[in-house]
Amino acid sequence: CFITFEGGEGAGKSTQIDRLASVLRRRGHDVLVTREPGGSPGAEAVRHVLLSSQAEEFGVRMEAMLFAAARSDHVEEVIRPALEEGTVVLCDRFLDSTRVYQGVASNLEPQFLANLERIAVNGVTPDLTLILDVPTEIGLARARKRGGAAHPDRFEKEEASMHQKRREAFRELAQKEPQRCKLIDGTLGEDAVALAILEEVDRVLQT
Ligand code: C5P
Repeated sequence: CFITFEGGEGAGKSTQIDRLASVLRRRGHDVLVTREPGGSPGAEAVRHVLLSSQAEEFGVRMEAMLFAAARSDHVEEVIRPALEEGTVVLCDRFLDSTRVYQGVASNLEPQFLANLERIAVNGVTPDLTLILDVPTEIGLARARKRGGAAHPDRFEKEEASMHQKRREAFRELAQKEPQRCKLIDGTLGEDAVALAILEEVDRVLQT
C-alpha cells in the first residue's frame, strides 16, 4: 500500500507520518518512511543540488526534469521493491508536490509536466494521498518556529502569495481526484489530525 503526504510548509507532514508509522508498526505492518525530493542515494544527491542556493539559476525545465529524475530513481530503487514485498510505504511529498510546486511556480505547459510525471512514476501511483491543509500564515509560522528560518532553503524564502497559490492548488487537486486525495484539516490538534488520517488509511488498507 502506497500512501503519500502532501501540503505546504509547516503543514505537519513529518509529525503525522511518524505517528502513522508507529501505529501501523504496532499493528504488525512492515512500514517504510521515505521522502521527496530524495529517498534513494541518487535522489538525495539530486535533492542537495535542488535545495542549495546555487540552484536558483536553474531553468524551470531543467529543474522539473531533475525532480522527475530523482523521483524515477526513488520509485525504481526504493518504492517499487518495497511495495512488491508488501511493505506499507509512507512518502513525504510525491507527484502532487510537483504538480503544485513546479506547476504553480513556472509557466511550464501542463503536458510537459504530465509527460515527466508519467515517465518518473512508471505506473507506481499512490493508493491514498493525504493533503494536510493549513492557512498559509499558520504553516509559515510553524515552519519558522521549527528553525526553518535559520537556514531557509530556496523554496522557503519565497513570499506568502506564492504559498497561498500552492495551498489553492493542493485544494483543487483534492477536488479533482477525490478517490485518491483526501484533504485533512491541519489546524485541528495533533491527535485529531492523526485520527482523521487513520480513518482514511484504514479504509484503504481494508480494500
Ligand atoms: O517537504 P520538504 O520541506 O522537505 O521539501 C523540501 C523543499 O522542496 C520544500 O521547500 C519544497 O517547497 C520544495 N519542493 C519543490 N518541489 C517539489 C517538492 C519539494 O519545490 N516537487
